[in-house]
Amino acid sequence: MLSIEPLAAFNDNYIWLLADAEQQRCAVIDPGDASPVLAWLDAHPGWRLEQIFITHHHADHVAGCRALQAASAARIHGPAGERLPVCDQWLHDGDQLTLLDRPVQVLHVPGHTLGHIALYCPRQDNQPPLLFCGDTLFAAGCGRLFEGSPAQMLASLKRLASLDDDCLVYCTHEYTLSNLRFALAVEPSNPHLQVWQERVTAQRQAGLCSLPSRIDEEKAGNPFLRCLQPEIRQQLEQRAGRTALDEVELFATLRAWKDVF
Ligand SMILES: [Zn+2]
Repeated sequence: MLSIEPLAAFNDNYIWLLADAEQQRCAVIDPGDASPVLAWLDAHPGWRLEQIFITHHHADHVAGCRALQAASAARIHGPAGERLPVCDQWLHDGDQLTLLDRPVQVLHVPGHTLGHIALYCPRQDNQPPLLFCGDTLFAAGCGRLFEGSPAQMLASLKRLASLDDDCLVYCTHEYTLSNLRFALAVEPSNPHLQVWQERVTAQRQAGLCSLPSRIDEEKAGNPFLRCLQPEIRQQLEQRAGRTALDEVELFATLRAWKDVF
């Protein structure tokens, strides 16, 4: 059984560390900085870093890889469609491998970057499914469209939203509160958002990470999965200055609004 903990990096990044206490081994996802991982290893003598997974090529997700590789025997798994500083195994959509002892499936989810991947661990025994999705789906939000089109990102988010309701969503940034502020501006009458905001406000005041979220929670509150909701559509068509927008146009309008919110 794996335990999962967030290692804080930079201003608001999390490097997810998965630990297998029985065998004293661990894996990390998106180590943009080696130092928090090396500090964790220093505090856990005898443990081995065995695997590093990369979701996409941005520096705040990959810049720690070389130092961690030099300090351990970790194998680096990264997206085949991206240029990375170092990689031992290039991952393609549909690939199946193991993350320590959990089977994991590779999902290609372009939008934030073109080669972006997410890692999905199906349910195992009584452990819920897990999703490590980098900068695609955020709690109550989504990543910026640096390389992909709105249509690509919308398709990627829909693919993630089709996973199990109780799937735990581990994204890479602590953006939840600001995303919820935006979500409430977009859909003020959504009762889930108020509850979610109260919970996350309390977590942040206690210095806690607001993640993971869950797929059912995202479907109930994340505006980027809810463009077709009447209240959201009305707001977006008002912003766009025309009606009868299709879903991709609604999504593009919403993303552009968030960019300037
Ligand atoms: Zn990024």
